[in-house]
Amino acid sequence: RQAAYAKLREVEPFSRDGTRIQVMINAGLRDDVTNLSLTGADGIGLFRTEFQFLVSAALPARERQTRLYRDVMDAAGSKPVVFRTVDIGGDKMLPYLRHDDGEVEENPAMGWRALRIALEREGLLKAQARALLEAAAGRTLNVMFPMVSEPWEFDAAKDVFDGQLAFLKSQKKVLPEEIRFGAMLEVPAIAEQLDILAPKLSFLSIGTNDLTQFLFAADRSNPKLAERYDWLSPGILRFLRRIVAGLSGSEVDLGVCGEMGGRQLEALALIGLGIHRLSITPASVGPIKELVRRVDVNEIGEAMNGWLSSPPADMRATLTEWANEREI
Ligand code: PEP
Ligand code: MG
Repeated sequence: RQAAYAKLREVEPFSRDGTRIQVMINAGLRDDVTNLSLTGADGIGLFRTEFQFLVSAALPARERQTRLYRDVMDAAGSKPVVFRTVDIGGDKMLPYLRHDDGEVEENPAMGWRALRIALEREGLLKAQARALLEAAAGRTLNVMFPMVSEPWEFDAAKDVFDGQLAFLKSQKKVLPEEIRFGAMLEVPAIAEQLDILAPKLSFLSIGTNDLTQFLFAADRSNPKLAERYDWLSPGILRFLRRIVAGLSGSEVDLGVCGEMGGRQLEALALIGLGIHRLSITPASVGPIKELVRRVDVNEIGEAMNGWLSSPPADMRATLTEWANEREI
């Protein structure tokens, strides 16, 4: 099977009826970029910039950040890289970035993390914005904000980038050719404000890891709950369907960058919902490309519509049977 997947490296993932599905990878380290050529993925749909912060003993200097981002873009060549601004806090708290009052959080996953920290410690986001803008001189910068819960948070984060951009301009520095701003959808509340948020975005990436834990109020790191809620539950799939519907007619590129997209049945369901961009763990690229080549996008779309209007008792079993009948 491994050999079969290796052969798929050069193969573009078109569905049976000719829909091009974007299959990208998640990454966080400089060395992860080699997975692009190893898998033949379309780009890096999620670069977790906090990894550099997590492996450093102190806040990484701006120059070091710039170097990493530039190296990553150089190594990715013509393939796009989506840089997510730091998602620290929660389960990824840094020893050198503590609460001022030394408080220990009882619910860190829904606590002081990600954009909430970045907007409060503005120096941190300013340095990262400057590093990303400088690293992307002369090319396209894709930047994405994590844990956006209210539209104003997106605005505030973008303002920091605009401020740094104006500064670089005043210094006559080479600027990015294009800047595409996106948000992660992982906090359910923002899904109810898509009409307000979407016009500001170039892309939206659904983080199904956090989204699921918030939708079900089920800690993603608690093994006791790992099997309890299914990604194929109508509760999630209907929620995702509403997001797709909310963006229909808009120019926003929609994708999924959580682990859900890396599993074959789940990916099948996502494609059926009309989500045609998946950013997944590199080991899943082969299996997902193989899946894509066997799927008829219209057929799964219609089937999903029917199932979600009147859900079968066991969505996973139904989807499995459907896929088996078609040798998917
Ligand atoms: C997610 O929440 O689905 C996601 C992709 O981000 P992370 O796993 O880094 O929280
Ligand atoms: Mg997340």
